[in-house]
Amino acid sequence: MINKSKRNFFRRVSSPLKSYIFPPYYEKKEDFLKCIECEDKDCLNACNEKIIVIENEMPIIKFDKSGCTYCDECAKVCKIGVLSIDKKRKIEAEMIINPKKCIAWNQTICFSCQDICQDNAIQYKGMFYPIIDENKCTSCGFCVSVCPTNAIEIKTL
Ligand code: SF4
Ligand code: SF4
Ligand code: SF4
Repeated sequence: MINKSKRNFFRRVSSPLKSYIFPPYYEKKEDFLKCIECEDKDCLNACNEKIIVIENEMPIIKFDKSGCTYCDECAKVCKIGVLSIDKKRKIEAEMIINPKKCIAWNQTICFSCQDICQDNAIQYKGMFYPIIDENKCTSCGFCVSVCPTNAIEIKTL
């Protein structure tokens, strides 16, 4: 029988679930509802990039300081099995450069996002007009925080 605090928890988190970005080692987003049972939140400390924060008892990825290296460390320490290496997947988010905010779309030289992208997923036409190739992008998020004008927007999938 489900207790009252759990019932309230499920009610509170079921709608934001879709908008969250989770560490990429799960089967379905609903699995994170099990995190209410986890007191230690070991995944939080395991992440060397410090991109995991706890919200509504669940580990959420934020790209405002760094990105995900797909290092597996968060999955290795999860005792409850919400995260596990055999469920490794691509981060469920799409990165899009907003041409209105991007200075390289407005005739100012800037290669900050391309410089940090290890997957060579950002292409320019000459010196300007960068776009992200979704076939190459791993959604690691490293480009997001280096953009001086916050022009890289994240669409959760
Ligand atoms: S895979 Fe590594 S970098 Fe990515 S969230 Fe997990 S611990 Fe952090
Ligand atoms: S360690 Fe596992 S169960 Fe605990 S908060 Fe992280 S993902 Fe959830
Ligand atoms: S999110 Fe995509 S475009 Fe940005 S650094 Fe990672 S792979 Fe490159």
